[in-house]
Parts: sequence; C-alpha cells; structure tokens
Amino acid sequence: CGIVGAVSTRNIVPLLVQGLQRLEYRGYDSCGVAVHAAEAAGAVPGTRLKRLRGIARVADLGAQAESQGLAGSTGIAHTRWATHGAPAIGNAHPHFSRGPVPAGMDGEQAAARPARVTLVHNGIIENHEALRAELLARGYFFTSQTDTEVIVHLIDSLYDGDLLAAVQAAVKRLRGSYSIAVLHRDEPQRLVGAREGSPLVLGIGADGKENFLASDAMALAGVTDQIVYLEEGDTVDVQLGKHWVVARDGQAVQRPVRTVQAMS
Ligand code: GLU
Repeated sequence: CGIVGAVSTRNIVPLLVQGLQRLEYRGYDSCGVAVHAAEAAGAVPGTRLKRLRGIARVADLGAQAESQGLAGSTGIAHTRWATHGAPAIGNAHPHFSRGPVPAGMDGEQAAARPARVTLVHNGIIENHEALRAELLARGYFFTSQTDTEVIVHLIDSLYDGDLLAAVQAAVKRLRGSYSIAVLHRDEPQRLVGAREGSPLVLGIGADGKENFLASDAMALAGVTDQIVYLEEGDTVDVQLGKHWVVARDGQAVQRPVRTVQAMS
C-alpha cells in the first residue's frame, strides 16, 4: 500500500515513520520498518538488518521504535493492505531472506540466522506459487503467506555482491504489479527500488546527500520537493549523494527532476 525508504547519514527512523503517517489516509492493516541498525563502536558496519512490525497504528510503531532504540541511517518502511495472506504480524512487511537453509539445520536455528535481504512491496505477484515452489526446492524457508515473500528470496538467490544487479535479474522473473524497495546486509548505504504497474518516486535530499524512495511524493512532504517520477520497468539505485535510474532495457536513463508543490 505505502512505501518509504531513505539513505542518509542521520537516524532516519523518525522520518520513515512520519512518511508512513502521511500515507495513512489510504488505509492499511499493518505496518513495519527495517534499517541497517546502528552498531556499537568497533563493530563491522552493515552486518545487522533489524525490523519492527505491528498491526496497530503507525504512531504505535513509531513509539515502539523509539522505546526500543531502533536507529539507522538507511531504511525502508511500509503500510500493508493485505492481498495474499491475512493481516497479521508475520505477513507484515518488511520481509526478510536469511538465505537457503543448509542441510541438517533445524527450523529454530534457521530462523535465528541474520537477515541478508529485506524488502517492502506494493502490488500483487501473479506467479508467486510457481516461484515459491522453485525457491522451496532450493532450500528457502517461508515464514509468511504473502505473495511478496517470493521476491525477497528470489533477490537473495540472485545476489552476487551487487544489489542492483540482483534486483534487475529478479524483476525479470516477476509477473504482476509491484513497486519495491530493498536493502542488503552487505551494502549498508544502498537502497534499490523497482516499479511495474505500481508507483514509485525518488526524492533528492536538500543537502545533496540524502536520497529517498516513496510510493507517493506526499510521503516526502517537508523532507524534499525534488522528485523524480520513475517510469514502468525502471529500477533505481539510491545511495548517499548519488542515484541512478536504469530502464527496462538495462540502459541508464535520465528522468527529469521535478519540483513538487509543498504540501503539509
Ligand atoms: N500483495 C502484498 C501483500 O499482500 C502487498 C500488499 C500491498 O500492496 O500493501 O502483502
């Protein structure tokens, strides 16, 4: 239903929650946020994806994030309007992929592994059953009833050190409609998006560094008025101080930056 994402140098959890609040009027049954969690000094950066999901209001998610000290400078957030799988925490986005389960590992151990990929999705994946069967056969373990979860495992299965390339390869396999925003554990200052049949915009931060994704420019009101409307089939690589749009044919394209009227 609603997507917000950011790459920044400050803690963007409050901004992601605020963005979801601006999309609340569309309705939703659950919501969630995931970030590259700020690590203790000395820890290897970008090795921990953390998420928080809820079936209450976005304001409650924000309060919980604050009380738990959830913080990070790269993140994604979502309000879900369920199409496949009941409204429930386990079906709320962001979804995780922890990679295929090695032979001999039990379910509890498998679920305790760190997440490698996390994703939010608007839309419907029509070929989710065939993809699920394929991914199950390759050892992926599903934790939700959503059509969405196939995308996160598909991206994981295609990842070879470059999140943009993995997303480009994954979306070629999808039938249906989607706008997605994706993070990979090993690339802490990178956010990748794609769209087909569902809207996604890129927001360029006023400081020349921060960049954003959203399903509607309205989610970024008060944050930036510099908006790039992505076109059908586009994928976008969002980083600190730079961004890159790639069209369906794989070629980099320049999409116009528009100044949208400030809304409050
Ligand atoms: N089809 C997905 C789900 O049911 C996404 C729904 C949405 O657009 O919010 O989880």
